[in-house]
Amino acid sequence: MKVGNKLTIQIIIALILGIIVGSVLSPMGDQGWVQWIDQYIFNVVGQLFLNMIFMMVVPVVFISIVLGVVNVGDPKMLGGIGIKTLAFYLATTAIAITIAMVVANLLDPGEGQSQLLDSEEVSEYRETELEGGSTGEAIQQGFDQTVINLIPTNVIEAMGTQNMLQIIAFAIFIGIAMIAAKDKSARLTALFEEANDVVMWIVMAIMKYFAAIGAFGLVATAFVQAGFGAIQQLGMYFLCVLLALFIHLAIVYGSVVQFLAKKSFVWFLKNFAPAMGVAFSTSSSSAVLPISLETAQDNLKIRKSVSSFVQPLGATINMDGTAIMQGVATVFIAQLSGIDLTIMQMVTVVLIAVVASIGTAGVPGVGLVMLAMVLTAVGLDPAAIGIIIGIDRLLDMTRTMVNITGDAAIALVINEQQTRREEAAKAEA
Ligand code: ASP
Repeated sequence: MKVGNKLTIQIIIALILGIIVGSVLSPMGDQGWVQWIDQYIFNVVGQLFLNMIFMMVVPVVFISIVLGVVNVGDPKMLGGIGIKTLAFYLATTAIAITIAMVVANLLDPGEGQSQLLDSEEVSEYRETELEGGSTGEAIQQGFDQTVINLIPTNVIEAMGTQNMLQIIAFAIFIGIAMIAAKDKSARLTALFEEANDVVMWIVMAIMKYFAAIGAFGLVATAFVQAGFGAIQQLGMYFLCVLLALFIHLAIVYGSVVQFLAKKSFVWFLKNFAPAMGVAFSTSSSSAVLPISLETAQDNLKIRKSVSSFVQPLGATINMDGTAIMQGVATVFIAQLSGIDLTIMQMVTVVLIAVVASIGTAGVPGVGLVMLAMVLTAVGLDPAAIGIIIGIDRLLDMTRTMVNITGDAAIALVINEQQTRREEAAKAEA
């Protein structure tokens, strides 16, 4: 099965319809019948789709990484791919935040808006999230703990809590052990291959029969609750994030695909569009992972051994779109507070946001939680997040789309490099 053009068109139509229907109903959001439709139709349809793809995340990631490692065949080569992937991820994320900060400094989204800092949302955010809630805990978790947590003490728990980095680590261990066992693991390898076909078949079926309707439901409910009034007030901030996301997508990923992977960027976007559409509707890199793997392998022809290693890692640690939001938000909040960030502070923002991007789980809204870490690092008040929280869902949709597109673009480059290396080795022999 292939994710064909028909499905892409269906998903795009569903997204557009969802945006239109949600926006039309939004001003009537307090009426009973709108709430009924939103809760019992849009939400149910959307959540069913979301649950279905979430259901597949752990099996797909675990099985495909084990197979990916086995297919690479040589742990040293795997190390090489791993280091290259990390380098690409870190570099693109640093570029992303830099673009964001330049855009925000040029367009000054916070100019003359300092009254926002006294709003109710700020004190509410301070009380509920920072003083009593999980955000406070999240910013206190140090770098050491993040590194220690890479290795699970209990794999069932890692899978139960969908801790992606831990699942990746465990799968790599199993894969390497299977390579070491050579012929003795032949049956297990065959079993993993069969299991992979089965889980991918389910992913494809979910895509084919539920993606369009599910995406419609998720987008419609997000737009019903969007709070367009708030967007007007924060219009400049909103625009800056969108502009920086667009520049990063078109110029950075455009160049990566065109010059490093030597493929047409239009071809890339066209073929990866179904996954981008689902990312937009779900706002979750993790949820969309089974679909982005399938789309990259089938449509972009990225070999499984590269795709199944590079993309899950990216969905967990590479969040360029999120970093862009954090860059713009930091400059915005600094401007609201009447603070001019020094060059040193801007460099700090870039560094911390790269680390924050690694620590951000691929689920909706986590980017905002991690923003608290970035703000604290440069002495800004994290409670100011309360100002932008109301409009974050719509930006989350867009940045998640950029997040996973970056993973696929890098996977394409690594794939191309592997192919070239193999061809060179063949020519030499
Ligand atoms: N929703 C984003 C993702 O899953 C993370 C975030 O920026 O909140 O990629």
